[in-house]
Amino acid sequence: MEDTLDRTAPGALLAGKAHGFPGYMTVDLAALRRNFQRIASIANPARVAGVVKADAYGLGAIQVAGTLLGAGCKDFFVAHAEEAVALRPHLPSGAQLFVLNGLLPGAEAVCASAAVTPVINSLTQLHRWRARARVERRRLPAVLQFDTGMSRLGFAPAERAAVRMEIAQSPELEVLYVMSHLASADEPTRAQNVAQLAEMEKVAKEFAPLPVCFANSGGVLMGSDYHGSLVRPGIALYGGAPQLGVANPMEPVVSLSIAVVQTRRVPSGTMVGYSGTHLTSDCTRLATLCAGYADGLPRSLSGRGAVYFHGHRLPIVGRVSMDSMTVDISDLPDDALDLGSLVEVIGPHQTLEMLATDAGTISYEILTGLGSRFFKSYC
Ligand SMILES: *Cc1c(COP(=O)(O)O)cnc(C)c1O
Repeated sequence: MEDTLDRTAPGALLAGKAHGFPGYMTVDLAALRRNFQRIASIANPARVAGVVKADAYGLGAIQVAGTLLGAGCKDFFVAHAEEAVALRPHLPSGAQLFVLNGLLPGAEAVCASAAVTPVINSLTQLHRWRARARVERRRLPAVLQFDTGMSRLGFAPAERAAVRMEIAQSPELEVLYVMSHLASADEPTRAQNVAQLAEMEKVAKEFAPLPVCFANSGGVLMGSDYHGSLVRPGIALYGGAPQLGVANPMEPVVSLSIAVVQTRRVPSGTMVGYSGTHLTSDCTRLATLCAGYADGLPRSLSGRGAVYFHGHRLPIVGRVSMDSMTVDISDLPDDALDLGSLVEVIGPHQTLEMLATDAGTISYEILTGLGSRFFKSYC
């Protein structure tokens, strides 16, 4: 399939050619492509969909989808109908676009006309989608989601008999997959995974011969029992670690540098930042950086996280502010940093996972929060 997206001149947008931004985020589309191919070889013969919800975890859904199309991906998942409608014009007609949360009242007509396939999570959603098919006098595609133990979305076990009957009596609906979602795929040894798999196998049997869509990134790595016909990774494509406590097999995709806006030397006993939570214990050199919690660098990094400059760790001191934060640069030569110098937030010395851990969160939350005020470029 042809890559139909307009990815005009990503080279012209390289960070080096733009000036004056508080931060520079780089998305390595070649690494994204290699991550897709790696997952495809693990999941083979199952197909691999790309989960591009939340603007492809903040990387840019149009650019990411274009790259995945070029790598052979034909199936895409978003969370909301709005996201699907925005992305649809950028996909060829042969590509499938699924909405994980299914339909909110009023979204049916929009999804039908945009050739978007809802994941149907409840009998009400099922009835409303079937009613739409009747209005349109044509078959509409659907995915059926079952709750296998996460208690978030999907039909309860007790509803399955009714769903089967409804589907048998609904020639207006073309069911493409039965689906469920793993709650603990990032911890492969948890018994919850085995229990959910057993429940999913029951669903597959009850709804045979419908194909199964089950595994997210972590699920892909848990072996072929979990693969079904279509796997749906998100974070692994974007270089995040799919599983905790093991080496991350994925290539990093995102890097982030932010700009120094001021440096200063302060004596021992100086308070730094809001509420003076940090007190210097020595004569200290500080740099104020041009990004803060409004840019997705969580306030929980206050006094805990760090940035890097040529491999030197520069600890964040005091509170992270909305638009800035302060780091201790005493380790660096006097003239190493100046107005506009860039320091590494995510890159060769600090992975996305390290930053997320310091912030007390997960890579997903960091990626999806990274700010719109940064200059974003693709290479
Ligand atoms: C977000 C999401 C995914 C992708 O999960 P990753 O852990 O990022 O691979 C897959 N399926 C569902 C239902 C999701 O909500």
